[in-house]
Formats: sequence, structure tokens, C-alpha cells
Amino acid sequence: MKKVRTRFAPSPTGYMHIGNLRTALFTYLIAKQQDGDFILRIEDTDRERYVEGAVDVIYNTLKRCGLNWDEGPDIGGPVGPYVQSERMGSFKKYAEELVEKGGAYYCFCDKERLDGLKAECEAQGKTYSYDRHCRCLSCEEVKSKLDAGTPYVIRQKMPLEGEVTFHDELYGDITVDCKELEDQILIKTDGMPTYNFANVVDDHLMGITHVVRGNEYLSSAPKYELLYKAFGWEVPTYIHVEHIMKDKQHKLSKRDGDASFEDLMNKGYLTEAVVNYIALLGWAPKGEEEIFSLPELIKEFDISGLSKSPAIFDPLKLKAINAKYIKKLSPEEFESYAAPYVRQMVKREDINISRICQLLQDRTEVLTDIPEKVDFFDTLREYEPALYFNKKNKIDEEKSLQSLKDILPVLEGIDESEWTEENIHDKLFELIAQKEVKNALILLPFRVAVSGKASTPGGGIEISSLIGKADTLDRVKKGIELLSK
Ligand code: GLU
Repeated sequence: MKKVRTRFAPSPTGYMHIGNLRTALFTYLIAKQQDGDFILRIEDTDRERYVEGAVDVIYNTLKRCGLNWDEGPDIGGPVGPYVQSERMGSFKKYAEELVEKGGAYYCFCDKERLDGLKAECEAQGKTYSYDRHCRCLSCEEVKSKLDAGTPYVIRQKMPLEGEVTFHDELYGDITVDCKELEDQILIKTDGMPTYNFANVVDDHLMGITHVVRGNEYLSSAPKYELLYKAFGWEVPTYIHVEHIMKDKQHKLSKRDGDASFEDLMNKGYLTEAVVNYIALLGWAPKGEEEIFSLPELIKEFDISGLSKSPAIFDPLKLKAINAKYIKKLSPEEFESYAAPYVRQMVKREDINISRICQLLQDRTEVLTDIPEKVDFFDTLREYEPALYFNKKNKIDEEKSLQSLKDILPVLEGIDESEWTEENIHDKLFELIAQKEVKNALILLPFRVAVSGKASTPGGGIEISSLIGKADTLDRVKKGIELLSK
């Protein structure tokens, strides 16, 4: 069987849209699950859109996501160059070959004539389509114009009647009336190929067997089919994937700042979680399981699980998946991700950041949630006495005041040198036992007093051990003061 070769062919725009990354991922998975080659081709022929450093964005994103290519601009390969602009000189001879085969023709219509045609169409309310004026020029006419150096383009000769059918793995057979197809330009006046032509020739020359691309290219596919046929080349398997939408009406867009891989990284998601989530955008695994590492995706992915309806980007689902990935990290890995976010808020040098990270791991869905969760360590902010009210445990402000008053001397009795989580825990539980009360009656008011919050990473015991004895006593006294008013 022919070796599977897939390609990701991004245009360097300086931006890795989630939809493009998903195309790269699917393309990679199709190659890797069949021991095939995954090729990176940079389609940079649209110089107007060229952005400095944009190719690096592509390299860095793919590498970070683990989508390593087997052939590409930086590592070369047998069918290079892998940057389209470096291949520009080679297309014209293919167009000329096509002219000889009867699948294309020279067109000498100048701008003036074409502008006139366009104006005419406009006046009649028709969509412009080239009128095939040069299609029937005789060989002699063509030769004499070429000899005279008349500028020309080369156009694809579409069949004048009949239908063309192409196959898409997802959409099945799509049949189009050839009459609807314009004799599109393949080679421009400057001798350079149009995008559609370069794309087809490159895919052929690079031995591509499967093409995954956005379905905005679906309408070009019949023309591609005819080009392949005219050359007598084998047509690759096409898989046109649906857009990723923000909601039913709107595409995910750059403008909203939520459409690129970079945006998601800035929002505190883990790379592995993003890769896992985008695989699920438009693809449904066979079973219930949705958490897959990249090697697992290679095994699980199946073209038949792809969907024809647009995928809606669901931040809540991404969040839930991210939380699962965070839980799976080792404490050391989590700390390496989380510490910078903790440090945004916790500047005190005496506070043990590793311990805060341990306390955070289970309650973090997204890294950017962290600063807000640890905003009380350096200094206690003003808070409302109502925070002490806890309906479920039947604790009110009065009971809390009593608890804090009981806690204070117990804590004062712990020697500074013995100020550890374990000792604080033991002393408070002695108090609980001695007073014969529920744990919550002591521990909940204690948490509020040391943090000014009703919910925190870790409880009062962990927090007080982290902030030290003096600060803890101060905070408990503040609580007593607040509740005594
Ligand atoms: N360069 C095109 C894009 O970035 C890719 C089209 C294709 O994959 O065929 O949209």
C-alpha cells in the first residue's frame, strides 16, 4: 500500500487560529496512525499578508503541541523546498504541460478588456465570469502572440458541459455542473502560479495522499478534481472540516481574542489540555472517554468520527478538561506551572510557595484563576462580618466570635519554634474535644479570620502555618474586633 503522506500547509499570518491548529492535529493524526509522514509546507505566496516572525509562530506552536513534522522547511526532506515562495519558478512548466494536454490555454486578454467585461456584468446584475474569449484561438494565433511577446495568463479549460464529481471523506460525493466553473487563471502575467494551482501541483509533487482543510475550500474542490484529471494524476483523499464557531451564528474570531492558541495559553490553559480539547471539536471518539494524550489520540482518531456540523467552542468544557490535566500533573510539574501565578500575588519571601501550590492543585481549573485565590496571603483585606455566617453548619457571627476568643489563647500558647501545621492542628483539635463542639464551629471561623474569605486553598490550619504566628494572631484579633462591633 502507498505510504500515507499528509501535509499541514499554513499561510504565515503570525497567528495560529484554533481551527488551523485542529487541521494540523487531524493531519498529524491521520499520518501517524498509519505510520505515515507528516509534512509541513509553508504557503507564503501571498506576500501582502506576510508577517515577520510568523513562520516561527507556526514552528513553535506545532512543537509545543508535540506535532513534530517529518519533512519541512527547517529540516528539509526529499521533496523540498518546503516553502512555497521558493518553489515559484517550477509551476509554469506544469501549466504549459497542461496546455499541451488540452486542459489549459493561453489568454491574452488585457486589463482593459477584462475591466470592460466586468463593468458589463455589473450593469446587468450578473456575477463576473471570464467569457472564454481566448479559448478558441488557433495554434497559429497563439504562437504569433507569444512570439510578439504579448503578455498572457494561462487559464484552466473547464469542460463546457457535463458534471464533475469529487469525493470528500466527510461530505461524500459532491457533483457540480461544469457550466458553473470559470476558466480560472493558473499562471499569472508575471509567470507565477495562482494559489489554487500551486496548491494542487505541490500536493502532487510532494506525494500527498490525504488533505485536511477548512471547508471554505470546498467550492474550489471541483476545479482541483479537474486539474488532477487533466494531468492524469491521482487525486488525494480530501477531508474538508467544518468551522469552529463561538456560537451558532459567529465564527471564533481573532478580534475577540479567543481564537488563537496563544490566546488560550494566555488564559492559563495547559498545552496538552488544549490539544485534547481541539481534537474533540468536530470529532467524536467511539466510547465515552474524552481524555486522550497525543499518543492515545493517534490510536483513537478515526475519520468516520468527524462531524459535518460546525463545532462550537465551549470554554466550560475546555476548562473541565484542563482541570483534569491539572489534577494529573505531579506536584513538581504543577508547581512549575503554578508558581509564577502565585508569585503575582504573594510577594512575601517567608511564605512557602510550594506548599501553596500543593494546596491549589486540586482546586485549580485554569492557571489564571490562581492569583485571585491567593490574594490574602501577603495582607488581609477588609471583609464583611457576614462571611462568618454559615447556614449549613448553623454558625452565626456570635458563635464565631466565641470560637475566635477560644482559639486565640490556644494559638498564643504554641511556641514560635513549634509553629507547624501539625501542632496547630493538634492544639485546635484538643480545643474541639475539650469544648465538645463540631469541628466546623472552630475551623470555619478560623479560616475566615486568617483569610478574610469563606473559601480558600487549604483551611485555617494550613494558612496560619504559612503566614506565621504573629500574623495569624493579628488576624484572629482583627476578627474578634470586627465581630465585637
Ligand atoms: N494555506 C492554506 C491556509 O492556510 C491551506 C489550504 C490547504 O490546506 O489546502 O488556509
